[in-house]
Amino acid sequence: MYIKKVVIEGFKSYREEISTEPFSPKVNVVVGANGSGKSNFFHAIRFVLSDMFQNLRSEDRGALLHEGAGHSVVSAFVEIVFDNSDNRIPVDKDEVRLRRTVASKKDEYYLDGKHVSKTEVMNLLESAGFSRSNPYYVVQQGKIASLTLMKDSERLDLLKEIGGETSCEWTFIHALLT
Ligand code: ATP
Ligand code: MG
Repeated sequence: MYIKKVVIEGFKSYREEISTEPFSPKVNVVVGANGSGKSNFFHAIRFVLSDMFQNLRSEDRGALLHEGAGHSVVSAFVEIVFDNSDNRIPVDKDEVRLRRTVASKKDEYYLDGKHVSKTEVMNLLESAGFSRSNPYYVVQQGKIASLTLMKDSERLDLLKEIGGETSCEWTFIHALLT
């Protein structure tokens, strides 16, 4: 399983719909000038995959919606298209689309176009090997530095978690450029 494509519309700096070219199952590099939206792109991925953005308050949702002079949006979505040819996501399909939408009053999930609950999504992701509370597969800006500064015992705990039951062969997203 790997992320094949990401589609974003109205989210943070992405006003108009953008769709990435199909990603490689190996390494993909996101490059761009300062302020061009690299961090927002990874934020968009985490918005769909981690439970860090649950129980959003209205102002949190507002901050995720694109805001610009004369062209603010009232809703946004991020869709992640997975290559699921190894059936790691327990759905009998080679391709799975997971979309999360956000508007000022609510945010919702859709699996292959069908409305699903947050609990269903989190359970599905967990059974596919995603750690819901500690998305170590996204290495955020500054995290590498903090890894080097950790106490040995903390580093060991982290390694145990990665190597343990929540382990997955998931493509590590090296967000070092974000
Ligand atoms: P750097 O190389 O400096 O890390 P970056 O490519 O990671 O830059 P981002 O942080 O993703 O850039 O994008 C920053 C831009 O996104 C800023 O110009 C900021 O104004 C814009 N931005 C953030 N939130 C919104 C929003 N809700 N509406 C419109 N623009 C937004
Ligand atoms: Mg950045």
